[in-house]
Amino acid sequence: MKNNAVIALGSNVGNRYDNLVAAVNKLTDSSNINLVNYSSIYETDPVGYEQQEQFLNMVIEVNTELNAFELLKRCLNIELELGRKREIKWGPRTIDLDILLFNQENIKSETLIVPHPRMFDRAFVLVPLIEMKPELKLPGLARPIAALITELPDKEGVRLWKRKNGEDVFEHIGN
Ligand code: AMP
Repeated sequence: MKNNAVIALGSNVGNRYDNLVAAVNKLTDSSNINLVNYSSIYETDPVGYEQQEQFLNMVIEVNTELNAFELLKRCLNIELELGRKREIKWGPRTIDLDILLFNQENIKSETLIVPHPRMFDRAFVLVPLIEMKPELKLPGLARPIAALITELPDKEGVRLWKRKNGEDVFEHIGN
């Protein structure tokens, strides 16, 4: 698998845990996407539009034969398959899948921007990302990502919910 991607997942409607697991399984069930690593799951206060339920958030790393646009299409299809309806910007969602990183590429198109433009100021993305890949260096960023966390205003709103190794989250990992 020639490409490496990091994807952020979030859910705050229905059974949030089942939604995360279903999305990861759907994504990695296909023969051209392999799950490489995943973070713990965090419960997070909503950001942007605050009159909604708390989210569960996590990040995963995959290796894939798909290019970035094919991967985005797969992510958007899974959002639809899991019943996501877009009603309010930054509002409640069954599942949200965002491509954070794709190799070391900088992509700026109408449909896809990578690295994800809002990932650097969102604790609900950075906290799980730093847990999963503490050594990560991002394109155009002098400091390691761990350095960003001290400046995040909303990190108190991000709480560990299910520890990565606490229970079998994804039984098929490694298969
Ligand atoms: P949202 O549902 O608010 O996450 O926005 C989804 C839309 O953002 C999609 O229609 C994508 O075309 C666009 N988009 C731009 N960059 C990205 C990215 N890095 N990951 C996922 N969606 C993206």
